[in-house]
Amino acid sequence: MFDALADRLESAWKSLRGQDKISQTNIKEALREVRRALLEADVNLQVVKNFIAEVESKAQGAEVVSGVRPDQQFIKIVHDELVAVMGGENAPLAHIEPGLTVVLMAGLQGTGKTTASAKLALYLRKQERSCYLVATDVYRPAAIDQLITLGKQIDVPVFELGSDANPVEIARQGVEAAREDGADTVIIDTAGRLQIDADMMTELADIKAAVNPHETLLVVDAMMGQEAANLTHTFHEQIGITGAILTKMDGDSRGGAALSVRRISGQPIKFIGVGEKVEALQPFYPDRMASRILGMGDVLTLVEKAQEEVDLADAAKMQEKILSAQFDFTDFLKQTRLMKSMGSLGGLMKMIPGMGKLNADQLEQGEVQLKRSEAMIGSMTTEERKNPDLLSSSPSRRRRIAKGSGHSEKDVSKLVSDFQKMRSMMQQMGQGQFPGLPAGFPG
Ligand code: GDP
Repeated sequence: MFDALADRLESAWKSLRGQDKISQTNIKEALREVRRALLEADVNLQVVKNFIAEVESKAQGAEVVSGVRPDQQFIKIVHDELVAVMGGENAPLAHIEPGLTVVLMAGLQGTGKTTASAKLALYLRKQERSCYLVATDVYRPAAIDQLITLGKQIDVPVFELGSDANPVEIARQGVEAAREDGADTVIIDTAGRLQIDADMMTELADIKAAVNPHETLLVVDAMMGQEAANLTHTFHEQIGITGAILTKMDGDSRGGAALSVRRISGQPIKFIGVGEKVEALQPFYPDRMASRILGMGDVLTLVEKAQEEVDLADAAKMQEKILSAQFDFTDFLKQTRLMKSMGSLGGLMKMIPGMGKLNADQLEQGEVQLKRSEAMIGSMTTEERKNPDLLSSSPSRRRRIAKGSGHSEKDVSKLVSDFQKMRSMMQQMGQGQFPGLPAGFPG
């Protein structure tokens, strides 16, 4: 999801790479990319404008934290702002205790409203809440049957009065039935239309007035893009919503809806639908979503972890070593252990921009490779670790290491030559500011 946005922000990231201060000039290009990315992702224009203004004012003059590159810091600022736009924290569903929590579902036809009603019932049932579903969509021929089938599937009672009854009356009686049955939560599925229309709005408003719900959830299809902003605006203005469920987040959807809904309504997204199955509902977490939108993994966590783990003086020493080509196998081991203390290689790679796309096989290979390298280094003498060149000139040393570590001589030769290649490459790049350098080492 959000692939386009991720790619755009990746360019923004690149435009800041290698610079040591966040300044008015260098931030311009990055902001332009963020703006374009959000617009391309169909975020409402006004939401984009506010967002960019806030990021700009926060980024400018931001103190560059030592040990953290400005590009990473910029991404953290964008990330934090995205989290804020989407509401900061997870907003739970209302729960009236003791009593009956009434949830009204609203939204256009085809957005996944009926499915979401059943998904929500199952989700709550798993939390030991007893649910009731009410079928008020008397217009769409199969809607009532669809809910009955779903109800059977998840073992939740469905209240219905057939397709000749009045929807307001069905809702009223459904709530009463749920109350009499001692249910904890009643979820009322309503009729949608393909487009916003006055009859639908009037009926919804009437149902709302009749049952006085604790939650009115707008079901928004994540594929709607820009339209999500208008839809949210209309529903919130005319009916008043308390939150939203964003469906079809498993599809190839743009990120726009997630950002727009909260800004336009001031109400939180509470859940996301991530598939057609009835289990495919998840609580909405703004920080997770922001990380996914950025597609860069959680740089923030990486930066924080790095700060916790690395003594900065040590990092500076390491950098100096790298620049002067003194980086040896001992340093390599140290870096590897540091990476391990920060989590698995897979976990770490996901946090590094551009690396998130590595597949499980590649990650596993990387882990295996690191272990092999470690074993071979473990069989080296202190002198050899400090002076890798000793190994390139001595087949007998390589043979001994191969034997000691249970690898072939070819493996050892490759380790040594890859290490030397990496060392000269690192020296050329001269960018040893960040730990975790051996990410691509050795193949
Ligand atoms: P309603 O008209 O709003 O009640 O929509 P439905 O609940 O009937 O859903 C319309 C279609 O969208 C159905 O084919 C659902 O299976 C599908 N759908 C609903 N939610 C999701 C979701 O989160 N992901 C995917 N991929 N499909 C969904």
